[in-house]
Amino acid sequence: MTLPSHAQIVVIGGGIIGCSTAYHLAKDHKADVVLLEQGQLTSGSTWHAAGLVGQLRSSASITRVLKYSVDLYKRLDAETGLATGWKMTGCLRLATNPDRWTEFRRLATTAGSFGMEMHLLSPAEVKAMWPLMRVDDLVGASWLPTDGQASPSDITQSLARGARMNGAKLIENIRVTGFEMDGERIVKVKTDQGDIACEKVVNCAGQWARQVGAMAGINVPLQPVKHQYIITEKIDGLSSNAPTIRDPDRRTYFKEEVGGLVMGGYEPNPQGWVTGDVPEDWQFRLFDDDFDHFEQHMLQAIERIPALETVGVKQMINGPESFTPDGNFILGRAPECSNMFVGAGFNAFGIASGGGAGWVLAQWVVDGEAPLDLWTVDIRRFSNLHRDREWVRDRTLEAYGKHYTIGFPHEEYASGRPAIVSPLYKRLQEHGAVFGSKLGWERPNWFAPAGTEPADVYSMGRQNWFNEVGKEHALVREKVGIFDQSSFAKYELTGKDAQTALDYICANDIAKPAGRLTYTQLLNTRGGIECDLTVARLAEDKFYIVTGTGFRTHDFAWIREHIGEGLDARLADITEHFGTLSLMGPKARDVLARVTDTDVGNSAFPFGHVREIIIAGATVRALRVTYVGELGWELHIPIAATGAVFDALMQAGADFGIKPVGYRALESLRLEKGYRAWGADITPNDSPFEAGLGWAVKLRKDTEFLGRKASETIQAAPLKKRFAGFTVARDDVVLLGRETILRNGETVGYLTSGGFGYTVGKPIGFGYVRHADGVTDDFLTGGTYELVVANERFPAAIHLEPLYDPHNAKVKV
Ligand SMILES: Cc1cc2nc3c(=O)[nH]c(=O)nc-3n(C[C@H](O)[C@H](O)[C@H](O)COP(=O)(O)OP(=O)(O)OC[C@H]3O[C@@H](n4cnc5c(N)ncnc54)[C@H](O)[C@@H]3O)c2cc1C
Repeated sequence: MTLPSHAQIVVIGGGIIGCSTAYHLAKDHKADVVLLEQGQLTSGSTWHAAGLVGQLRSSASITRVLKYSVDLYKRLDAETGLATGWKMTGCLRLATNPDRWTEFRRLATTAGSFGMEMHLLSPAEVKAMWPLMRVDDLVGASWLPTDGQASPSDITQSLARGARMNGAKLIENIRVTGFEMDGERIVKVKTDQGDIACEKVVNCAGQWARQVGAMAGINVPLQPVKHQYIITEKIDGLSSNAPTIRDPDRRTYFKEEVGGLVMGGYEPNPQGWVTGDVPEDWQFRLFDDDFDHFEQHMLQAIERIPALETVGVKQMINGPESFTPDGNFILGRAPECSNMFVGAGFNAFGIASGGGAGWVLAQWVVDGEAPLDLWTVDIRRFSNLHRDREWVRDRTLEAYGKHYTIGFPHEEYASGRPAIVSPLYKRLQEHGAVFGSKLGWERPNWFAPAGTEPADVYSMGRQNWFNEVGKEHALVREKVGIFDQSSFAKYELTGKDAQTALDYICANDIAKPAGRLTYTQLLNTRGGIECDLTVARLAEDKFYIVTGTGFRTHDFAWIREHIGEGLDARLADITEHFGTLSLMGPKARDVLARVTDTDVGNSAFPFGHVREIIIAGATVRALRVTYVGELGWELHIPIAATGAVFDALMQAGADFGIKPVGYRALESLRLEKGYRAWGADITPNDSPFEAGLGWAVKLRKDTEFLGRKASETIQAAPLKKRFAGFTVARDDVVLLGRETILRNGETVGYLTSGGFGYTVGKPIGFGYVRHADGVTDDFLTGGTYELVVANERFPAAIHLEPLYDPHNAKVKV
């Protein structure tokens, strides 16, 4: 096929992701699509995948994406005439110890929350389903009956045919060699056989996506890793419908294939491939068999399935696959290039994800915004740190090594740390800080008392920091503490049209005089919450915008891409210009008054205001806001002066017992006050009205703003879901999020956040209560609630108001 001179959308890569994206673009959107593949279709990672298809993930949206894959694989052959090899064998996950069993009980609850069938089985039940398996070391197993397996090449060919049937052109043996750019836009895709002009490009180049992206200046942080499995000869007595097995405590997986077994695993010592560019000539190629490295899996697998000791190995597959630093794939519009979209980095679940990933990516390409909350896989979750290939390699190999380890709550990665530290790092270490890392920043999670080791000890129940965090929490509620929040993302928007730009971008009214702050959501066209941040007006033509550490790239990209054409409004990321100290607690004013000459009394410096004040000789932007529900200020300090200001505050607050306080206390404090966290409680799937934040949407003003139309529609109809708080009377219940909410015994939703409130002395959860006919106050308060936690039901109380109100200094439970 010859290369057309123009296409609306060019998809690069003919693996499962490229073919699925092309299929959905052509079929669902009637787009004019050309797919370019440097070799033959499937010749990258796709042809040698093992073909296990699992669906349950910890994100509801990603689980939905994976469920869609299964639905598609079931019906695709009828549509295209090409079979996908889909077999709904179900999947068994084996547990050999109590912590793993707790993990599965929590997973079973998550499955229930997301509407997936999952059962917990006894060893005897497992034996009956899989007679060749040794089960004497099992505590039990989880059983997902709708999981299965498929043939990766067949699905891809079927998708390719479906794409062609709907008018897409798929061209093989043509290599993309570069892009012709107009600023940050691609205008032409260059190939070894000529150029093709286009409007949009979708980079589905698998492990090459990094180098293909680099040609347009974008960063796709992935790392190719060698992944091996074996295929055995026939095993007597093995059913062709045997469920797939995941045996995480032995780090192995199994799948039936033509009477034999496919067996592979995730070793703790993975072998990364190149950190530089991947060779171009890697069609249908594998690495040499590495039985020495694979032996660790073989030994474990024989223990599980003794027949493996004697059966012959037909073939070993040792192929590269792209993995990412957090084990999630990479989707969406690249922040550095306005018309390149990416679908790559599939962490050995590209076959399971392929159908659904192509569906949502196609929609994203056409609309320019994600069709649902895809934050966990969004390319904008990365930052410049992820341009460091060695850092990406180290973190990715750590994530690969953890693929099958028990996922303890609050677990932190260890590699590539410290990467970015605040000026207070050493000082906080001296206070016993136990750090976590967020987008590369070291941030104190909690402070270990003198004489104890400053380290987390992970467990499924209460962890070693529980009591210390309680003390930090109490200090903020009763006196005063300092949070180092220097990692906050900070932007400045300047120019004579800055207000006009923000009028359109922000749901709340930011058109206030200089010196005022506005808490606002930024909405998408569906009225869903894309960002949640604070806007401070510093001058007529200057706004200071502060958002969460992890949302730095995302929020910046969102704001920038929605600044109206031709407006005089320039957005700059100035995160590293300012350190941030949040001085919080009833004594915060007393402390602040001791270090500045500015009047910080309530009438001179009311809530929701910003002032420049001098502390320790530095000009500090003081924002009177709180995320903990106490009197307080966020102090934004020229970065070099952060240490001096911290020292001054610590000295001034000494007689109140002031101390630095960590992020785990912050979480507990904000839960009691009912403050929503973006990415968990409020996401692009949720509107401010459903989230109880309708008061922050300026519908009463005439101003046109992004998401207005959808907001009007949502507001006018009965809400089908509403955000509410829950407490559990038993104080040893560990809430983590995703626990099921039962109303009068029926599932009505699941928790989006969970934790412990030390002032109220109870576990606290937040989540949406759903009801198709509308959720009124009466509906909310008229039911009896339970939470399902690790598969056990606990009576719960619902709360429509914050659990703690500092003005009444009263606990409302
Ligand atoms: C050993 C092994 C076992 C696996 N088992 C499973 C499993 O059981 N279940 C599961 O879900 N997943 C599994 N996977 C993962 C799965 O194979 C991948 O996630 C999936 O194939 C990725 O598909 P892709 O389309 O992103 O990449 P690819 O299949 O690699 O496709 C990318 C394509 O882009 C093309 N390309 C690159 N550069 C250019 C260019 N410049 N111009 C034109 N074309 C270009 C390449 O030639 C390639 O064909 C496994 C992977 C391995 C290695």
